[in-house]
Amino acid sequence: MSRFFSSRYAALEPYTPGEQPRDMQYVKLNTNESPFPPSLKAQEKAAQTLERLRLYSDPECTELVRTIAKRYGIGTDEVLFSNGSDEILDFAFMAYCDREHPAVFPDITYGFYPVFAEINCISSRQIPLKEDFSLDPEDYKEAGGTIFIANPNAPTGIALTKEQIGQILLDNPDNVVVIDEAYVDFGAESCVPLIHSHENLLVIQTFSKSRSLAGARLGFAVGNRELIRDLNTIKYSFNPYNVNSMTMAAGIGALEDEEYTVQNCRIIQKNREYTVNELKKLGFSMTDSLANFIFVQHPDISGEELYRKLKENGVLIRHFTKERISNYNRITIGTRQQMDILLDRIRQILQ
Ligand code: PMP
Repeated sequence: MSRFFSSRYAALEPYTPGEQPRDMQYVKLNTNESPFPPSLKAQEKAAQTLERLRLYSDPECTELVRTIAKRYGIGTDEVLFSNGSDEILDFAFMAYCDREHPAVFPDITYGFYPVFAEINCISSRQIPLKEDFSLDPEDYKEAGGTIFIANPNAPTGIALTKEQIGQILLDNPDNVVVIDEAYVDFGAESCVPLIHSHENLLVIQTFSKSRSLAGARLGFAVGNRELIRDLNTIKYSFNPYNVNSMTMAAGIGALEDEEYTVQNCRIIQKNREYTVNELKKLGFSMTDSLANFIFVQHPDISGEELYRKLKENGVLIRHFTKERISNYNRITIGTRQQMDILLDRIRQILQ
């Protein structure tokens, strides 16, 4: 830290992203990226924008907004795009948390939530998940703050139903409930249809997972027009051109090729089922994941050792040091071929 660094951030512990190693070619199952390339339409559209990069990007993301609004049957003033969903999550922390509205989220969830709270000088309360890592909506009765729930949750993959989330919304009428649906396309139920019946609901999605555009950085929020107006106030006070032209074009291309996304999600779901069954045969136990990753542990090898040995053998998975989950690893679901390499290496390690 330099002697010039603001004292406000002196104690800030930044988020640790998954490794993006350049030293060798790994079977990369550590950051929940898609194993499939972006849709060809997305690639073509992005390439066509090159000559227009002289100009600033459209601050309103007009075409993207129109396409998503049409898809969900909502107004164009009920959607806002961002530079990845991390950015719009941060906007939500800025917009809806303060001294009277601390951030409330589970003890085991997306590791960026505590960092967003910290950087915005917001206090937070963590509600422990049940022993089996499930979330009991009863624990969120009058939670006393702005609620952030990843659904499916990360890193467990466990999902709540739309009805369970509806209950949390009803139990917290004076607080915003942010549902982070980064992984919703792999088998869980989206809460977008609830935005008109619940004025306190904000749903956040990303193009990073099911649409294979993690590197393009594209996310969005859906909520009633007042909530979206709040987020626009933050956005236009921060970076009006937060989504670049190439990304916008790639996003539109991806949305035009929905069949490709749906088909890829189906393959991931099939590969998830296959991997779970094979790992169970090897003695692993895991949570019931509806995401593009699984969360596993084995009675004979620690989470840390399995992570390390797999890395030595060219397979990267995600290990967390947080005590409650330190014996677990999160494994991204890739192609069938990647899963077979993973299983093969695990069999060798266990022998
Ligand atoms: N929410 C959750 C639960 C995530 O795991 C991630 C990915 N790290 C994000 C949001 C952010 O994704 P992105 O910024 O790539 O849209």
